[in-house]
Amino acid sequence: MIYGTDYHMHTVYSDGKYEPEAYIEAALRLGLKELGFSDHLNPLGGDTGWCMDHKRLPDYAGHILRLKREHKDRLAVRLGLEIDYLPGAEKKTEEIISSFPFDYIIGSVHYMGDETVDLGPEFYIGKDIDQIYENYFNLVCEAASTGFFDIMGHPDLVRIHRFHPEADISLLYSMMASSFAIHEVAFELNTNGRNKPLHDFYPDRQYLQLFAQQGVPVCVNSDAHFPERVGQYFGEAYELLRKAGYREMAVFAGRERFMIPL
Ligand SMILES: [Zn+2]
Ligand SMILES: [Zn+2]
Repeated sequence: MIYGTDYHMHTVYSDGKYEPEAYIEAALRLGLKELGFSDHLNPLGGDTGWCMDHKRLPDYAGHILRLKREHKDRLAVRLGLEIDYLPGAEKKTEEIISSFPFDYIIGSVHYMGDETVDLGPEFYIGKDIDQIYENYFNLVCEAASTGFFDIMGHPDLVRIHRFHPEADISLLYSMMASSFAIHEVAFELNTNGRNKPLHDFYPDRQYLQLFAQQGVPVCVNSDAHFPERVGQYFGEAYELLRKAGYREMAVFAGRERFMIPL
């Protein structure tokens, strides 16, 4: 039996729909061993409608830490955050990640300049898709190099609206795998892409073996915004990882990484 973990949850503290307790119930029903919360946070703040207000961070951390104590005998609850990687916001990012006893930090690129790549297809229309891919992958590699993040979130989110590049992008995936390996960050196989226009996981399954060959640690995350999506499609995700050559997955506690068998 696999030691099940799911480290990517969004609750009412950001754009999730339920209180953290509801996700814990779902995790217990599924028999997961660890459940991690990772509400969205933009280091520069501002009211984006989908990120946590910085003023709520102490309440969020306090809430999750209380649940961690309450459930310690049956479920390992983990305190995380999903932070936007924004070039120029390094100081603020550092301040935030050192302000609470996080178990891990997910680093995600949602923004290219002032625009988000995931909220709608408009971002892509009339643009050079090859260039967007190249710039996006460069940003994710840059994020990995900062040392702020333990897990790179949905590393090829730019696929979400199915605008396909014409160039051979296998080199971009090789570059990404090398960058994650060099900077010793893990990435997530994010199953939530299946619920998006993409209808598949991130990153692209055909390149998973590049990450395996480079020994990049991986975890499987649902990016759940509802309790019903906790652990969604995990059987298929584990299978894909095994086929790609993975025999271990990463788990996190106190920002330290440990490996468990897959
Ligand atoms: Zn995200
Ligand atoms: Zn997320």
